[in-house]
Amino acid sequence: MEQPIAVTRQSFDDWMIPVYAPADFILVRGEGSQVWDQQGKSYIDFAGGIAVNALGHAHPQVLAALVEQAGKLWHLGNGYTNEPVLRLAKQLIDATFADKVFFCNSGAEANEAALKLARKYALDSGNREKNQIVAFNNAFHGRTLFTVSAGGQPKYSQDFAPLPGGITHTPFNDLGAAAQVINDRTCAVIVEPIQGEGGVVPAQAQFLQGLRELCDRHGALLIFDEVQTGVGRTGSLYAYMNYGVVPDVLTTAKALGGGFPIGAMITTDKLAKTLGVGTHGTTYGGNPLAAAVAGVVFSLINTPEVLDGVKQRLEWFIAGLTEINLQYPIFSEIRGAGLLIGCALNPEYAGRAKQITQLANEEGVIALIAGPDVVRFTPSLIIPEQDVKEGLARFARAVARICS
Ligand SMILES: *Cc1c(COP(=O)(O)O)cnc(C)c1O
Repeated sequence: MEQPIAVTRQSFDDWMIPVYAPADFILVRGEGSQVWDQQGKSYIDFAGGIAVNALGHAHPQVLAALVEQAGKLWHLGNGYTNEPVLRLAKQLIDATFADKVFFCNSGAEANEAALKLARKYALDSGNREKNQIVAFNNAFHGRTLFTVSAGGQPKYSQDFAPLPGGITHTPFNDLGAAAQVINDRTCAVIVEPIQGEGGVVPAQAQFLQGLRELCDRHGALLIFDEVQTGVGRTGSLYAYMNYGVVPDVLTTAKALGGGFPIGAMITTDKLAKTLGVGTHGTTYGGNPLAAAVAGVVFSLINTPEVLDGVKQRLEWFIAGLTEINLQYPIFSEIRGAGLLIGCALNPEYAGRAKQITQLANEEGVIALIAGPDVVRFTPSLIIPEQDVKEGLARFARAVARICS
């Protein structure tokens, strides 16, 4: 075999289309909640691949499922179904409100499917005018043209006009404003129970309950985008379960595959009939390799031990972060649910979230931002206490450097 090509961080700038600005080191290996770079430096992983690696890196049972399926069957295409995808569908149905599942490969694709379903359902009901989608400011639903248009951050969509029409944005957590724009022409309302990319902002219970009522009154579908909040992230299997508000359609991805790409849109029998043979599809969606991995990830997470453990871990984080904040008052608020934690910066440190994560990297911890003013943590749902402590000690050193 030829020697592999030598690569450094510079190779990224040389060869990659520059839509990302990755950190200045390259990670090569991970185990649990620790990762190592090319130089052998260790980091505590508080990002979990952006809320994806819900069981950490190289979890033995997930790895075994991947290897076992890899030796059997990777891909068939949807002209032939397969055992792992059917089992995964049953797991999702048994654990949620849903009766039917559509599999795809990412969060954006799951939302794309949900929005297409809503448009067609309304059309099939005989009302050609019923095609309006209501979405929220600062929302994030993915990067396809439809989902970036539904998203509420114009900076992600405006350069790609003309955009799909019929989408109205209104302030998040403002039920009065939503009531002004939801009407009989609305086919769907799409909302994140906790806005993730938009700054880790939880929806108020009354807001989601109110949206449910407005949707019922006007015959619109309520779509919950649980791409980030789903599969145990908040300490419930899905965040809708915390709110006691049941959507018509739910999208899930990120943690679902524990690091292997997979997404799903789940819905009721009645709505599922809208998408008949040939109306929608994907080449890779529901492939046996992804489904086998997701099946194991889902069953490992959907246990009282893991879900209660998420709540326990939130307490460790809050205790540690509160202590840091007492010494260096850098955060105005620590918010979120479960292991989707957002630390909003005091106005004095506005715009410096990215810089804080860069210093955190130097100190040996991986963290995320959620906009310029929020540091975000989305670690493994089973991160050991020792790693939480060590990671927070390293993070405290980064905060000390910013504050001194
Ligand atoms: C990450 C995310 C998406 C997009 O998922 P991709 O897999 O990147 O397409 C959509 N919605 C929410 C809430 C997300 O957090």
